[in-house]
Amino acid sequence: MTTRVELSALARRGMESIPVYIGDATPCAVDLSDNTNLWGAPPAVLRALRSADVSVVARYPATYAGSLRDALLEHVGLSGADGIDVVTGCGSDDVLDSAMRAFAQPGECIAFSSPTFSMIPTFAQLNGLTPTPVPFAPGFELDAERLVDARAKLTYVCAPNNPTGTHVARSAIDYIVQNAAGVIVIDEAYAEFAPEVFVDLCTASDRVLVTRTFSKAFGMAGLRLGYGIGDRNLVRLVTRARGPYKVNALAERAARAALTAGTEGRDWVLERAAEAVENRLRLVDAVNRRGLTALPSAANFILIPTRRARQLASGLATRGVRVRVITGMPAEPRELADCEGVGLRVGVGPWPAMQTFLNALDEVVACA
Ligand SMILES: *Cc1c(COP(=O)(O)O)cnc(C)c1O
Repeated sequence: MTTRVELSALARRGMESIPVYIGDATPCAVDLSDNTNLWGAPPAVLRALRSADVSVVARYPATYAGSLRDALLEHVGLSGADGIDVVTGCGSDDVLDSAMRAFAQPGECIAFSSPTFSMIPTFAQLNGLTPTPVPFAPGFELDAERLVDARAKLTYVCAPNNPTGTHVARSAIDYIVQNAAGVIVIDEAYAEFAPEVFVDLCTASDRVLVTRTFSKAFGMAGLRLGYGIGDRNLVRLVTRARGPYKVNALAERAARAALTAGTEGRDWVLERAAEAVENRLRLVDAVNRRGLTALPSAANFILIPTRRARQLASGLATRGVRVRVITGMPAEPRELADCEGVGLRVGVGPWPAMQTFLNALDEVVACA
């Protein structure tokens, strides 16, 4: 007979409140729920995977995906920068999680503007950190002073921000980089769609880590690959916290192809991103003409704060269109005051898919 011990008594404190991420993977005609590249993966990536020597899967991959380092630095325009290095990971999620472990002791704070990337409070909790949300200032500008005043060990800035899609001003980020007490993480998961990027700031301070991903514009979410760029010593610490073998061999090969193939790789990605930006402007316009209000976006998705979000999403789902219902948003800034904390996040892709969404939306609104 073994002694009966409740598993919940053995679990680390707080584990019961860690949410399990809900991603709906059931097939649907038009899935606009996860901000991935709706045009698909770059042709060079598909070719690299088809022609891969798959027997490599019997062995471990490279410990730290070193073959991507130079190509990534060139991709972000920092190949000549002194003392700058790259850490890769199993998605940029892995890099963000590792950065928390590298720099913050359990009990220390991570400050961020709210609402932001839903994994941040979750990773914070898993690493024993205290999430310190700060409301956005009017117009979804960062409240840089309050973020700095939090004196957090880590300050997380998502630019453009998920789930709002909003862009943040360089002046606010500059203020944070110059004045924050600890490490500043700038998450640029949507850099390819933004009018301005901030990766250069990692050359301005050795406490800035800029993270990027292959999951969004690069159309490789299923391969799980992300990276962080920063001062060599900062990157070394994140790499230690990350551990070896997080990037699999096929992901590394595919990313190499994406970065070096030119017209069928990186150029293809940037052309699709430009198309997404055009379609985003058209979509915001079309949504606003229907009496809803979409926030101005700098990413490949739009947020429509509306208390009818759940009802609209379920009507869209019965018509084969999946969008994401965002919940738990604060009541500030003013743009979020009347939505009761909920909204619809809609991914932007090829226009025919956008038209399908708009047609379904018209039907749902007419039925309501
Ligand atoms: C999607 C996303 C990521 C990361 O995705 P990975 O697939 O783990 O690279 C990171 N940050 C934000 C803001 C995102 O929206």
